Amino acid sequence: MDLGLHGKVAMVAASSKGIGFATAKMLAQEGCRISICARNEEALEAAAGHIGEETRSYVVDVANPDDLRWWVDQTREDLGPIDIVVTNTGGPPAGALDQITDEQWAQGFEGTLMNIIRLVRLSQADMIASKWGRFVHITSLVAKEPSALLPISSTLRTGVMSLTKLQALKLAKYGITVNSVLPGHTMTDRQTHLADIRASQQGISQEEALRRQAESMPMGRMADPDEIAAAVVFLCSAQASYVSGVSLLVDGAATVGFG
Ligand code: NAD
Repeated sequence: MDLGLHGKVAMVAASSKGIGFATAKMLAQEGCRISICARNEEALEAAAGHIGEETRSYVVDVANPDDLRWWVDQTREDLGPIDIVVTNTGGPPAGALDQITDEQWAQGFEGTLMNIIRLVRLSQADMIASKWGRFVHITSLVAKEPSALLPISSTLRTGVMSLTKLQALKLAKYGITVNSVLPGHTMTDRQTHLADIRASQQGISQEEALRRQAESMPMGRMADPDEIAAAVVFLCSAQASYVSGVSLLVDGAATVGFG
């Protein structure tokens, strides 16, 4: 099936690894011209090499407003007007609710919420002018089922569901859709980082923590990043033109309830 994405300019934030990387790679396979970003230049260059020759990479901290402005301006200059923005991020600090510091809450706020508000604000004019656009926010299943290990993520990402609706309503008349994808447990560096925390809490190895996590999933396994990316790419497609304001769980049935 042709997803109607050939030649579109797509920015994928926080994309040297994990779900962001898988998304950028799949959008490139659909013919998009890709702009990726992350903080580490070496990892970024390696990622760009895997995604495709024409991929542009930029050293950016998504929590930094000046970096975001520079990334959007530079992408426009290098690739042309922006059609698609995937607002991925690295995931806010984890930890028990009463141990999280004010600094960590502030860090989470800048890197998990303000990054989304800023990226939409900075890039929407191109999509309004062309009467076509796609925003996809990658958040988390904890938006619908809070996790004791992830209070910052849980709190802010429930808010992003509301933000997604507000942005979708505002931009609908321009042919721009705004959706969120809420991944379930996915095998990435973030997952091994969280497994390390659980391992030290429970006095088990990282391997055992990962095994228990996978075993507790309804499908008996965690997601592959490509399975999350496939949902993001569909929401970017021409065929998804009437899907907007949605917060889509991609969690292999892990979240119980009708959220
Ligand atoms: P990951 O750690 O595998 O990859 C994160 C990517 O973001 C890397 O490329 C990293 O370099 C980049 N990055 C991190 N902080 C950055 C910053 N401040 N500025 C720019 N780039 C930055 O993570 P992942 O598992 O792919 O997670 C992606 C998102 O999905 C996160 O927001 C995470 O909370 C969410 N999520 C992940 C899972 C999971 O199980 N992996 C589950 C639910 C939600």
